[in-house]
Amino acid sequence: MITKTNPEEFESYLSDASNYKGHCTGVVFPATTAEVSAVLIDANRTAAMVTIAGNGTGLTGGRCPEGGILLSMERMNHILEIDTEHGCVITEAGVTLLGLQDALTEMHYFFPPDPTEQLCYIGGTIATNASGAKSFSYGPVRNFVLGLEVVLPSGEILWIERGQYFASGYRLKLPGTEMDEILLPKYEMPGVKNAAGYYIRENMDAVELFIGSEGTLGVITKAKLRILPLPEKTISCVAFFTEESTALHFIDITRERAKNNNVLSARALEFFDSRSLNFLRPTYNRIPALAQAAVWFEQECSGADEELLLDRWLELLNISGVTGEHIWYAADAGDLQEIREFRHAISYKVNEFITARGFKKLGTDTAVPVQYFGEFLTCIKSMVEQAGIAYVAYGHYGDCHVHLNMLPENEQQFVQAKNLYREICALSVSYGGTVSAEHGIGKAKREYLEMMYGKDAVNQMKNLKLQFDPNNLLNVGNLFL
Ligand SMILES: Cc1cc2nc3c(=O)[nH]c(=O)nc-3n(C[C@H](O)[C@H](O)[C@H](O)COP(=O)(O)OP(=O)(O)OC[C@H]3O[C@@H](n4cnc5c(N)ncnc54)[C@H](O)[C@@H]3O)c2cc1C
Repeated sequence: MITKTNPEEFESYLSDASNYKGHCTGVVFPATTAEVSAVLIDANRTAAMVTIAGNGTGLTGGRCPEGGILLSMERMNHILEIDTEHGCVITEAGVTLLGLQDALTEMHYFFPPDPTEQLCYIGGTIATNASGAKSFSYGPVRNFVLGLEVVLPSGEILWIERGQYFASGYRLKLPGTEMDEILLPKYEMPGVKNAAGYYIRENMDAVELFIGSEGTLGVITKAKLRILPLPEKTISCVAFFTEESTALHFIDITRERAKNNNVLSARALEFFDSRSLNFLRPTYNRIPALAQAAVWFEQECSGADEELLLDRWLELLNISGVTGEHIWYAADAGDLQEIREFRHAISYKVNEFITARGFKKLGTDTAVPVQYFGEFLTCIKSMVEQAGIAYVAYGHYGDCHVHLNMLPENEQQFVQAKNLYREICALSVSYGGTVSAEHGIGKAKREYLEMMYGKDAVNQMKNLKLQFDPNNLLNVGNLFL
């Protein structure tokens, strides 16, 4: 197995896109499930901590080790089978989302989850239960996982399919492993899009437990995923509004229609505030001078209903006061891609800004119930404005999920911003929301997990982890200490 022990050779594996930084003694690069198993067996023998590294696009420091060794998934990068007859694919965990989508496109299929960042590994997206733009209609990665191969912290190899093993109440037996019956925690998850903490339900399917568990319960080595035929056509449009309130109202109407099976049914419904547009203006001179907010939506359609749907969208945009150069419509595949890149650019540029100044990312990942979303937004924006800290607010507003990224200019502002971040998380929780809707907790957000679920629930989560990993060696520091 390839191993790197020279720090200069593995420096780039110690951080992720949040600019969180870790340290370790070496990096191993297994190429097979058996090699992953051997690493874990050896780690138990030598009491070495092991942290799993995907491609480092995570935004919470999850792959950044706090000692021990790093296990990179980059050599497990093969797509094993694309089965269009049954609508599924079997892939190793180190395949990039881009690689998977390219292979599927050739066969006129796609994998719907779209965390905008295409370089993440499939294993990383499952470990964090990623979602992104299209989750407005498709939901998170969880909805597309049919089966998993997992190497448990003991080194045992488990293959489980959805629908195969279920908990009895809050007790779960994993046949074929030496594990005793597992006692699951009992707590209520919020009724919003959520990626914070273990996914727990009474009588739950065993597969669900590993999705979003941030590598704390095992190494995902292979996955069987549900795929869908590519839509014949996709309507994609960025609408620029001269007032933020009108853009938010447009989102409310569009969300309502999609939920009520209206003919206008967006699969992506994304928002940019005026500050986000200003941030993007140097790169995108097509942003109209008067634009104060923008909404990007996509809808799948066929050649037969495209014209009708376009007319309906245009009608709705016109009613909302959006006309002429304020409509950026994708006329072909190239435009479609350009619009997606426009959406990705805002997240990417924020990370660039933060990294250039040496700070860690301070971007909210909160989602709250729809009836509180407007109130919540007004409140958090005024908190940050009153503190005089620059920010941009954008994200998955269709899901009432906002990324308010603070852009501190100096250390004093960074400390202030961190305090505000905590207050924003507390506010989200007080509205029945989450502290993380899609990025997970990792290391950067672990203090907020207890804020959300309480001490007792977090202790139950720790107990779950120790049942899987009695020596506490795998992905230590993710979710909790
Ligand atoms: C510009 C930008 C925009 C983004 N936008 C979105 C978005 O819209 N929505 C969204 O959901 N995410 C978004 N992300 C976050 C990111 O893409 C995801 O978190 C991604 O799914 C992580 O994949 P990775 O391979 O990079 O994992 P890493 O960052 O390497 O690791 C993430 C976590 O998963 C664990 N892990 C990795 N592989 C495995 C495995 N095989 N088995 C078990 N555990 C494992 C790691 O230990 C770590 O805890 C964005 C990121 C960037 C940089």
